[in-house]
Amino acid sequence: MSDMKLVVVGAAGRMGRALVDAISAVDGAALCAAVERDGADTIGADAGELAGMGTLGVPVTDDAEAAFAKADGVLDFTAPAVSVRFAELAAAAGIVHVIGTTGFETAQEDAVAAAATRTAIVKSGNMSLGVNLLSVLVRQAAMALEAADWDIEVLEMHHKHKVDAPSGTALLLGEAAAQGREIALADNSVRVRDGITGPREAGTIGFATLRGGSVVGEHSVILAGEGERVELTHKALDRSIFARGAVKAALWGRGKDPGLYSMLDVLGISES
Ligand code: NAD
Repeated sequence: MSDMKLVVVGAAGRMGRALVDAISAVDGAALCAAVERDGADTIGADAGELAGMGTLGVPVTDDAEAAFAKADGVLDFTAPAVSVRFAELAAAAGIVHVIGTTGFETAQEDAVAAAATRTAIVKSGNMSLGVNLLSVLVRQAAMALEAADWDIEVLEMHHKHKVDAPSGTALLLGEAAAQGREIALADNSVRVRDGITGPREAGTIGFATLRGGSVVGEHSVILAGEGERVELTHKALDRSIFARGAVKAALWGRGKDPGLYSMLDVLGISES
């Protein structure tokens, strides 16, 4: 089969640059276009030079429609409203859409799901193998350790530029814990604590967010019981783990039926 032609949207961003780099390192994938927002000062710049890997001959453009028309797939780590629009465009073009963007509102999640009835979309708050494996372990731990005796807290730290909180990965891990407990995360999560909060309510899943410096992403799920504590931790040392996962997701999605897929599907990690 010929190389899968991929567009990177948000090509000048932190993840966009890592994606351009990752595509060149993976057999079977080729960068065919790089897209940035209207008016970005990187329009016209070479995507390879932005990624620090020398000239690739792929200039950054703001014409997403033209870029999608010549592609087999799109890698998208941008912003929620932007990814919703790109999901529409990818569905219209009939190409695989890999969404790593986080911070979606419910209505935006619904819009992505609607687009996934027309094309294959792989969406995950974390594209790394390690975090997806961790989510399976968290689900098992939450199932094994009873809610009455074991409190679950999700702690995360990211770099100071991150705009959403808790992180998409923290929510993914919280969702895994909620699945293990067979409860709805939305009805049982404590996203913020401040002031006189009263004692902790049993069965809730708490979140704590730290921001600072250049931290790529660190997550711990803490199961705290009487006299003992279990901590399941992942530390991302480099953005390339997410970028390689995204390229892998695109290759996996090629030729798949329309649908909304996760990284667990791509990695073939059993949830049971
Ligand atoms: P960033 O701000 O560095 O990059 C975002 C890029 O998108 C910017 O260059 C911006 O100009 C571009 N953009 C905005 N609007 C656009 C438009 N209309 N068309 C094209 N490009 C547009 O942010 P980042 O650190 O790279 O993170 C991006 C997203 O990816 C965030 O939501 C972050 O949480 C998420 N993320 C996910 C994973 C994962 O594994 N799922 C890993 C890291 C980051």
